[in-house]
Amino acid sequence: MERVQCDILILGSGGAGLFAAHHAYDLNPKLKIIVAAKGLVGKSGCTRMVQGGYNVVLHPNDSVELHFKDTLKGGGMINNQELAWTLVSDAPKRILELETRMGCFFDRNPDGTVHQKAFAGQSFDRTVHRGDLTGIEIINRLRDQLYAKEGVIAWDEVRAVELLYNDDNQAIAGCLMLNLRTGQFIVVEALAVIVGTGGGASMYKIAAPSLEKAADGMAIAYRAGAEFVDMEMMQFHPTGLLAENSRMNGGVLEEGLRGAGGHLYNSLGERFMANYDPERMERSTRDRVARAAYMEIMAGRGTRLDGVLISVAHLGRKNVLRMFPGMVDRCKDVGKDLSVEPVEVSPTGHFHMGGVRINKDCFSGIPGLFVSGEDAGGIHGANRLGGNGVADSTVFGARAGDAAAEYVTQIKRQKVSESQVNRFVQEILQPFNNETGENPFDLRKELGKLMWEKVGLVRNGQDLKIAIDRLEEMAERVSHCKVSGGKAYNLAWHEVLNVKNMVEIGRMIALAAYTRNESRGSHYRSDYAITDNENWYKNIYMTQNGAKPAMKIEEVQFTHMLPEELLGQTARIKVEAS
Ligand SMILES: Cc1cc2nc3c(=O)[nH]c(=O)nc-3n(C[C@H](O)[C@H](O)[C@H](O)COP(=O)(O)OP(=O)(O)OC[C@H]3O[C@@H](n4cnc5c(N)ncnc54)[C@H](O)[C@@H]3O)c2cc1C
Repeated sequence: MERVQCDILILGSGGAGLFAAHHAYDLNPKLKIIVAAKGLVGKSGCTRMVQGGYNVVLHPNDSVELHFKDTLKGGGMINNQELAWTLVSDAPKRILELETRMGCFFDRNPDGTVHQKAFAGQSFDRTVHRGDLTGIEIINRLRDQLYAKEGVIAWDEVRAVELLYNDDNQAIAGCLMLNLRTGQFIVVEALAVIVGTGGGASMYKIAAPSLEKAADGMAIAYRAGAEFVDMEMMQFHPTGLLAENSRMNGGVLEEGLRGAGGHLYNSLGERFMANYDPERMERSTRDRVARAAYMEIMAGRGTRLDGVLISVAHLGRKNVLRMFPGMVDRCKDVGKDLSVEPVEVSPTGHFHMGGVRINKDCFSGIPGLFVSGEDAGGIHGANRLGGNGVADSTVFGARAGDAAAEYVTQIKRQKVSESQVNRFVQEILQPFNNETGENPFDLRKELGKLMWEKVGLVRNGQDLKIAIDRLEEMAERVSHCKVSGGKAYNLAWHEVLNVKNMVEIGRMIALAAYTRNESRGSHYRSDYAITDNENWYKNIYMTQNGAKPAMKIEEVQFTHMLPEELLGQTARIKVEAS
């Protein structure tokens, strides 16, 4: 088995992974750093897919306090306030770094200042963007600059499969990796591992994230003993493109379409938002619009593909082409002309607010293990604001890189536990030895449907209980999947690993959703359609405990701001669209 030593191993090459690499290297160019991505380095993950832009305070009339308040309000006041404060106060430094050190060009005003546009839930227009495809600008520059750094090694299509402890089980000493192209295992011995694999919203039947993502980072951190926070908080974007059986199904049409005056219709031609949020209509918040669309579809007022329609044609063809060229192109790929006709869309699994509990330096609590970006939780509370996602991955990626570079100077190289390596390799190869067993692709479809119907936009105790039981069964079934053929590029084999990870994380989502018997942000319970501030200013924490997660519930720490300072005194708020 191939063995490689490095100082820092970074899993994932999105905003979090690449920023971590840059910062660790800049702090200490002598370090040997490996960036390994399951996809292609700098061409995979969701940071590249960022459309709308990056929230950051730049204008003198704006302030980090305002950005902080917007973030807490969006998050239903259950955010980790230290992390949210870190996000808003570091973001200006990171955008400056992106422009002046990485070479990004963002759109500008005629006077040369950076253009900032409006995004939902913000009290000031603070979203920096490059047209409507901002992520490509960010990731291309981060990748180009990475290749200029000699001490950084980039591995394409090498996935992390399990974190490895040292012999004493005291610290992370590396990671077992699997090269997709050759099917060979690699043991990487690292002084520190930074996990930035971008979460697992992809486990839903309709989902926006890049296809290779499968909650891998979260699952390996869970099995290594990391603690998780508020796993029930899964965000659904209201306008995922419907594209029949195409792989593009669920890809996001950006929020700016609604912001610019786009209309949403059900199959009866009604602007249904009038029944859910008559004041704000389509400009209502992401969670409410997504839930409203879902309810229309469930009530039988959906389109042929089980969606609703978005229309921007009334804004004028020229305007649509000027403002949304990327979105027009995306719709063209499914044979639709967004500038003149309505397009079928559906809510789509988008972003996981829950994740690994970290401190503001991305330390997971396990020596040697740092987590950043979408794999980490607590920053966004119950709902992320559009534009705060890429800010999160760059801010905390940079911090993870800084902290890991500092950490590795203080510790000695650890030997990985050989017994652990052998056990993991055997387990991962097991599907080749099974005589009979299920097809992992079928299992993934089943998982997507289960999560969508029972742990999705509208939840209730009964369905969640069913989901918890079925997920437990699926965890057993996935261990009996059978695959055949060689190991190189064996997608069925990788799907077994994907499903295993997604089931593990899906189970935590369902359990936490069942426990939180109220509605808050993206978590909506039709049997508890109130935001219960009297009882639920709380966070739900989970860790692995044998075959099941153990749970504890703690009061939110209001370290910077009390709810009454932000929201007034209301203790129980009825959630609309119920
Ligand atoms: C369509 C879309 C549009 C969005 N638009 C916006 C927006 O306008 N503004 C905003 O703020 N946010 C937006 N977001 C959210 C934003 O993309 C995320 O918040 C953020 O980019 C996540 O960054 P990350 O670095 O954590 O993960 P990602 O950028 O997703 O990167 C994950 C990386 O991990 C790799 N990986 C996965 N599994 C493994 C493994 N087992 N081993 C090794 N590598 C692995 C992947 O290949 C990839 O390289 C959008 C998301 C989507 C899906």
